[in-house]
Amino acid sequence: MNKKISLLWVPGHSGIFWNEKADSLAKQVTDFTSFIEWIASEDIIYNLKKQSIQITYDNYRKSKCQALIGHRPDIITISKWTGNRVQDRLIARIISKTIITPGLLHRFNLHPDLLCIVCNEINDNSHILLTCKKYASFRAILWNKLNIIEHNISYDVLLSHAFTNKNHLTIFIQALKYFDIF
Ligand SMILES: [Zn+2]
Repeated sequence: MNKKISLLWVPGHSGIFWNEKADSLAKQVTDFTSFIEWIASEDIIYNLKKQSIQITYDNYRKSKCQALIGHRPDIITISKWTGNRVQDRLIARIISKTIITPGLLHRFNLHPDLLCIVCNEINDNSHILLTCKKYASFRAILWNKLNIIEHNISYDVLLSHAFTNKNHLTIFIQALKYFDIF
């Protein structure tokens, strides 16, 4: 009351006596005064949610799964690009490497040959899509359409090209039948 107050900017943390004093007083207030009742519960919940999502995301980025799966749109985004549930299921199987191949059937004693009869390699998803000689010509066409220029790419690199956008995904899905993947 009856006092003139002027506010002026001073540089922080540079040893100005009264500024340091004000700073330490401000810290005391936040450390020792219960301000929790001043914060709306909605804000607490909002920030906790935000933080937990961030922690989950950070954990994923540091994990082995990130190296294995890489950067790829999530299944909800992908399912908006697919035409129908049959395609959704096909894509889910491609991602989880559970396309029914002779190699997979062999694991359940449902197919006599574990190895590809053409290449003599394990006849799994990776072999069929990436290396099997039987599909070399179809692969060359698909790689060209998906702008894949590297040789000997990994399964995950193929998927990252296939899932770049809706157009690539459509091309990829249409090509699968030439690899005997349905
Ligand atoms: Zn083969």
